[in-house]
Amino acid sequence: MEFDVQAIRRRFPILSRTIGGKPLIYLDNAATSQTPDMVVGEIERFYTRSKANVHRGVHTLSQEATDLQESARRAVRDYINAASEREIIFTRGTTEAINLVASSYGGGFPEGGEIILTVMEHHANIVPWQLLQRHKNLKLKVVDINERGELDLEQYRSLFSDCTVMASFCHVSNVLGTVNPVKEMIAYAHSRGVPVLVDGAQGAPHLPVDVRDLDCDFYVFSSHKMYGPTGVGVLYGRENLLELMPPYQGGGEMIGKVTFEHTTFADLPFKFEAGTPDFVGIAAFAKAIEFIREVGIGNIEAQEHRLLRLATEEMERMPGMRIFGTAPGKSAVISFLVGDIHPYDLGMLLDKMGVAVRTGHHCAEPLMDRLGIPGTVRASFAVYNTEEEVGAFIEALKKAVKIFGY
Ligand code: PLP
Repeated sequence: MEFDVQAIRRRFPILSRTIGGKPLIYLDNAATSQTPDMVVGEIERFYTRSKANVHRGVHTLSQEATDLQESARRAVRDYINAASEREIIFTRGTTEAINLVASSYGGGFPEGGEIILTVMEHHANIVPWQLLQRHKNLKLKVVDINERGELDLEQYRSLFSDCTVMASFCHVSNVLGTVNPVKEMIAYAHSRGVPVLVDGAQGAPHLPVDVRDLDCDFYVFSSHKMYGPTGVGVLYGRENLLELMPPYQGGGEMIGKVTFEHTTFADLPFKFEAGTPDFVGIAAFAKAIEFIREVGIGNIEAQEHRLLRLATEEMERMPGMRIFGTAPGKSAVISFLVGDIHPYDLGMLLDKMGVAVRTGHHCAEPLMDRLGIPGTVRASFAVYNTEEEVGAFIEALKKAVKIFGY
């Protein structure tokens, strides 16, 4: 498809909104991306034409709903090139997917096991492992970064020991934008017999993902960051591992046969999908994947990089500007501070000019501590952002910092 950003923008009704009389410039895409008409349309169509619970009925609507959910599972399998849809578990999001693995797979860790994380992790990839620490005497080991925000790979390798039971790290940092060399890191972990979870919340929306090429054991991501609806996420897990893992939650859908004496569990993937799933959201997520395929992940990457380059060049020229994360090939996220201006103050002023950015610790407090800052302002781009918007953002930023004397 020929890349036409204006045609893409027309598919996102929210982008024609104004904020305080100014056109909305939405640069908070790393938190959640906006949703195209075909996804919203699918939600409406489902509720008005096909709603019935999945996997429970013989009637037409129930079968339609089930077919839609299962074809979404195939769409996800294809998107990440998993070997089988048995390896695709629908969750509420990245956070639930990591909790599932920590609780179910982690439940089998031996006392004294060591888990390798990195200092750039989102809280979603820290706290579930800490919860597991409560029950077991586990140790977390943390890989540091260099001044560009890249992982220290030598240190990463040195942290492995005979006690290492898991390595879990992000594909792309939600603060620094660093794209980690996950394939190389997975290969090393495997050479030490250690399984790997990749937090793909910021990977799957922006980069081609091939779980078989990466050879990861688990890969997790969220629909709402990929132009899809909220409340849906994915756990990809290697089938032989998922087979061995106990269920995470109990209830309907996940059982084989229930008696008061003994219960057997359903096959994959249903063993991990207790209760009624967000089947409307799941079907709409399939439309989001269709949208990404139509636009082309290569076009998405290219557009986002164009905007990143343009914004970075302009920002680097601004007095007092500090950008956190300057790794080559980074993803389209710019975290920054200007002089001693508090990030909230900048964020508020930008909002008054129609520019939506995120401020704060971005759910990465250990990283903020490592950088010695309380938080940053973060601008993050998606495929529908334009060069004109970057220009307007820079103008707004210049005006805002001038108020503080920069
Ligand atoms: N991991 C990373 C790297 C993220 O950026 C996020 C969300 O910002 C998450 C995990 C958590 O995702 P969710 O809130 O969709 O579960």
